[in-house]
Amino acid sequence: MTQKLYEVDPYLSEFEARVDNIDGEWVALDRTAFYPGGGGQDKDRGTIDGLEISDSRFKDRIEHKVVGHDFYVGQVVHCRIDWVRRYGLMMSHTGEHLLFSALSRRTEIELVKISLTPEKKSLIVKGEISWNLIKEVLQEVNDLIFEGQDVKAEVLTKDCVDHTRTRVKMDRIHGDHVRVISIGDYDEAACAGVHLRNIKEIGFLMITKFTSAKPVGDWEIEFQVGKEAARSSNVFAVEMLRASEVLGAQPHDFQVAFENRESENRKTRESLKQYSKVVLNALEPTVIKGISVYAGHFRGIDRKLLMDKATSLTSGTMSISVLVLEEDKSFLVLSRSNDQNIDCASIVNDVLSPFGGRGGGKAGFATGGTAGPVDGTTIISKVLHHIGLDVE
Ligand SMILES: [Zn+2]
Repeated sequence: MTQKLYEVDPYLSEFEARVDNIDGEWVALDRTAFYPGGGGQDKDRGTIDGLEISDSRFKDRIEHKVVGHDFYVGQVVHCRIDWVRRYGLMMSHTGEHLLFSALSRRTEIELVKISLTPEKKSLIVKGEISWNLIKEVLQEVNDLIFEGQDVKAEVLTKDCVDHTRTRVKMDRIHGDHVRVISIGDYDEAACAGVHLRNIKEIGFLMITKFTSAKPVGDWEIEFQVGKEAARSSNVFAVEMLRASEVLGAQPHDFQVAFENRESENRKTRESLKQYSKVVLNALEPTVIKGISVYAGHFRGIDRKLLMDKATSLTSGTMSISVLVLEEDKSFLVLSRSNDQNIDCASIVNDVLSPFGGRGGGKAGFATGGTAGPVDGTTIISKVLHHIGLDVE
């Protein structure tokens, strides 16, 4: 068994050890402060006699992978942890205890997955969580961090663990002992990881993402700690101020103002739809060579509405419709009744290609767009000319 120095003193960043066993590139030391990973926390990086550790594994003993070493059993080596990286992980790990505890005080949640790496700190949980709850939790966690609470590790026998106080899953505990991490009187949890001495060292905790995690769990919560959290918080705050200014609202009223704006937009879209229907229904055909030709160009009409109209105008016999939407990129819909034998798809392509556009569809119905704005009258006259139905 390797002596776990990281359990005794998580702040030990350099140590001497003796090589106990060598299995190819895998080196076992008699004692190690390199955390081999676990509980979602990433494995430590660092060096043994200046050589990088690329991996660690933990079975009966802890082994570190050192590519290209020439160590021998009994050799005394000097080990150095990548301390900036490890301290960041200790901050996020301790922050995770606080965050989970604050959540579970308010709602019944089950932990599905933890990821604690330099790149990503996240929890996936099952349970009911709302934005209001997230706000409360952040407030409480940061108040606690600001005040500071000591973090203590204690090894207890299994039957001494008070289940009403300690978060523990006994089926995951091997052996007779449980290592319990307490944060003041606030939280107790079984954990084999590395933690800070005092939660004050976290500095600040910020939730940077709160989204559905289905089907793995209900929610994924990403967070940051320390300076990284403060930086994100500054960016979010400034963006929020900027968005509030655009909306003409105060930041704390942003949500209500935004919902009001959305509601107005929905009403406007509905009015526009009604107005568009009236405009399209007023379209009268011109009879050319016995064919009813419906041609028109419009602005501000929904594309789907225009396509539906083209289909219904040519659902009978002896009819063709050429409808153009004039936008930043003009949009053409060409359709014909089944008794006509023109190929709409190839006509749309032929007409639009000089305007850098192209289309798609079938012989009876096709649509296409131009690369830039093109006058509707021009497009319509080119289509009719192509078909041989020039307006005399
Ligand atoms: Zn822990």
